[in-house]
Amino acid sequence: MKIGVLALQGAVTEHIRSIERAGAEGLAIKQVQQLEELNGLILPGGESTTIGKLMRKYGFMEAIRAFAAEGKPVFGTCAGLIVMAKHIAGQEEAHLELMDMTVSRNAFGRQRESFETDLPVKGIEETVRAVFIRAPLIESVGEEVEVLSIYKDEIVTARQGHLLACSYHPELTDDYRLHAYFVDMARSYKQPVQNQ
Ligand code: GLN
Repeated sequence: MKIGVLALQGAVTEHIRSIERAGAEGLAIKQVQQLEELNGLILPGGESTTIGKLMRKYGFMEAIRAFAAEGKPVFGTCAGLIVMAKHIAGQEEAHLELMDMTVSRNAFGRQRESFETDLPVKGIEETVRAVFIRAPLIESVGEEVEVLSIYKDEIVTARQGHLLACSYHPELTDDYRLHAYFVDMARSYKQPVQNQ
């Protein structure tokens, strides 16, 4: 299994380390052509406006939409979650518009800029160690989106078929089980059935 981490800006090496711990090969992705060899793609945390700009500049918007349209798994963490959302609260424009959800940026307030917690995540035994850094939250989700975890009444992990997103940084701890969960999603990849 080859899992790429979009390496335009943000936390890349830590994701690669966690992917490798989860038993897959991790690759830093800087050019669209590299997507071809991947079984799954991670969009890391960082700053979503900057990541969005760089994605537009280097042709990743269309390329990642096409990648996801083939049914290949995409996992957005923190800023990556914002980049995947269909709607961003208070902003006219979103980025990839892949996942049917509305997200709110920097949603946990200044006094709680960063914190760590043990989070129950549906589908994973025992809690996951999660690091929140100026984290977004998922305000609302569409019918096809399954909520996987809630922290203090707010949705912080969700899945829509082959798309996974979390508000926090799972790569900044030694706990790689969310990465293992994503590698499993990549293993069970099925090409979408074409209508007609
Ligand atoms: N606050 C950042 C944003 O809005 C996300 C923070 C992060 O990825 N740690 O893009």
